[in-house]
Amino acid sequence: MYDFIIIGSGVAGCTIFKELINKYPNKKILLLEKGNSPKYISEGNNKVQVLYVNSLGGSALYSVGNAFKIDLRYMGISIKDDIYNEIENELNVNLVPPNFINKPTQNLYNYGFKRTPKFINFNKCRSCGMCASKLCNAKWTPRNLLLPKNSNGKIITNFEVLNIQKKERVFFVEGSYRTNKNNNKNNTNINEKRIFKGKNVILSAGGINSPRILSSILDNEYIGKNLFVDTFITVGGVLNDANLNNSIPMSVYKKYDDFILSPHYSTLLYNQIKEENKIIKNSDIFGLMIKIKDDNNGIVGKNYVYKDISKKDDELFSKGFKEALNIFSDMGIDKIYKTIPRGSHPSGTCAVGKVVNKDFETEIDGLFVCDASIFPKPIGLPPILGIIAIGKKLSHIL
Ligand SMILES: Cc1cc2nc3c(=O)[nH]c(=O)nc-3n(C[C@H](O)[C@H](O)[C@H](O)COP(=O)(O)OP(=O)(O)OC[C@H]3O[C@@H](n4cnc5c(N)ncnc54)[C@H](O)[C@@H]3O)c2cc1C
Repeated sequence: MYDFIIIGSGVAGCTIFKELINKYPNKKILLLEKGNSPKYISEGNNKVQVLYVNSLGGSALYSVGNAFKIDLRYMGISIKDDIYNEIENELNVNLVPPNFINKPTQNLYNYGFKRTPKFINFNKCRSCGMCASKLCNAKWTPRNLLLPKNSNGKIITNFEVLNIQKKERVFFVEGSYRTNKNNNKNNTNINEKRIFKGKNVILSAGGINSPRILSSILDNEYIGKNLFVDTFITVGGVLNDANLNNSIPMSVYKKYDDFILSPHYSTLLYNQIKEENKIIKNSDIFGLMIKIKDDNNGIVGKNYVYKDISKKDDELFSKGFKEALNIFSDMGIDKIYKTIPRGSHPSGTCAVGKVVNKDFETEIDGLFVCDASIFPKPIGLPPILGIIAIGKKLSHIL
């Protein structure tokens, strides 16, 4: 029997795992993770594509290192005054050094763009521009929090939690363990069902999967509702030798009331342009990401994600597009392309005040949710520092 079972090893799950191991060296702690090495998952109707990553370490393995201090108090989540200083020190947050910002991007200073704070060690960074698709040792990831094997914590990967039950005071966490049996002729995966018993369970499977697992044990009309994703599009065009593909993504940014603009190389944009202009090179594309504080109008169901662009979202994109057009016209980029809307910060689906209380506990004693799904209000900014903050808060409470 485990004292704590944590489901999901993303930013929140790894933070809680590490903090609880330090706090309770004599308790048994289990971390269950569906993935192992990173795999992008895309869900959603054909309106907004929602992206996340299944892996030991979760979505942040492919983050671009943006380190923003999101206002949790505005969401009704109380936190220690100095929590963000503590986190910034632990992650060694720094502004992108000036010499990492390439020439065309430097033009953006004239429009009020600032250097972005990042949890990247720039002494190790090779500026390959591959943050969102390759692992490297320059960027902080939740894997940095996982401790040596012989501690009181156990990690099991390739184990997908399917449901939770509680009988008397014990939780039964059931799932299937996908093993690659060497003696299986076809070398195919075999699903092995297993149940782990625990006194407390913390769901940290992310904004899309925590509500799915929670609905196996709890009937609450708000589970899976209120989905927001910080929807973004990338707009841009041809700028010879822009070299954005070989630079740190989102190296500078400009914050407006409800959206941000930030330089972003997008393969989707490149592919669109290449359809018309066969000789164009990846290095000849310049783009700006418009990331909005979107409406919390999405829904996560057992087998689907529905997320649309509301009228307000549309207006925000139009404002961002207008700003981007001014910049592009000064830079000499005349024909503008744009990508489909996507979102990579799924949040809100087990919201504080609706599904969990201010201590992140559900109506069921000993069953907690802690990850991006508990944020009750749209953010419009990268949430990793905020997720670490709530992970630390829960570890203090437990
Ligand atoms: C390409 C990309 C770039 C990003 N860049 C930034 C950035 O620069 N800065 C920033 O602040 N944010 C960024 N984000 C967003 C950020 O990565 C996420 O918001 C954050 O990692 C979410 O953390 P989480 O703990 O809520 O969930 P996740 O990190 O998604 O972790 C959930 C974990 O649960 C596991 N899991 C799911 N279902 C099950 C199950 N049934 N059983 C067991 N395990 C399960 C998953 O495999 C995963 O490991 C980016 C996201 C993407 C996709």
